[in-house]
Amino acid sequence: MERIGIYPGSFDPPTLGHLDIVERAAALVDRLVVGIGVNSSKHAFLAEEHRLQAMKESTAHLKHVEVEVFNGLLINFAREKGGMVLVRGLRAVTDYDFEFRIAMANRSMAPEIETVFLLARDEYSFLASSVVREVATLGGDYRRWVPEPVIAHMEAKLSGKD
Ligand code: ADP
Repeated sequence: MERIGIYPGSFDPPTLGHLDIVERAAALVDRLVVGIGVNSSKHAFLAEEHRLQAMKESTAHLKHVEVEVFNGLLINFAREKGGMVLVRGLRAVTDYDFEFRIAMANRSMAPEIETVFLLARDEYSFLASSVVREVATLGGDYRRWVPEPVIAHMEAKLSGKD
């Protein structure tokens, strides 16, 4: 049976920390689906098409990785995709509380789906999409923190073209 992993997140924008988790998770499963969660009540920085394209372009070198947008409950998306493993990244202890609650809620609703956590690499342990957005908006050089294909999508947004 094919082992399918789901890596959900906002990816607003995708960072090198996210890409590192994608690469490491992809090595553990037969197929990895990166799910870009769209939450209409939350204001996004990059539009969903840009997040989708940016993540697709950033993972194009990984043949068994797919990227999709999803609405609604993560466990419904995971079941639809046949996913049995949810992958999340853990940076500092501050991530733990939030991740623990989500993982427990998901387990309660979908006991057949396991959540696994991959620890962030040292050099990305401070890196968050919010930091990238903030630095970029203030005119700082955020480029070192994102996969190369993400830059064009960020520039379109920053120049007001999107
Ligand atoms: P969410 O909005 O669901 O928290 P994010 O897009 O911020 O989603 O992150 C998706 C997942 O990737 C989360 O599990 C988050 O902890 C993890 N993550 C974010 N940044 C990093 C990083 N620098 N290194 C490792 N994991 C990360």
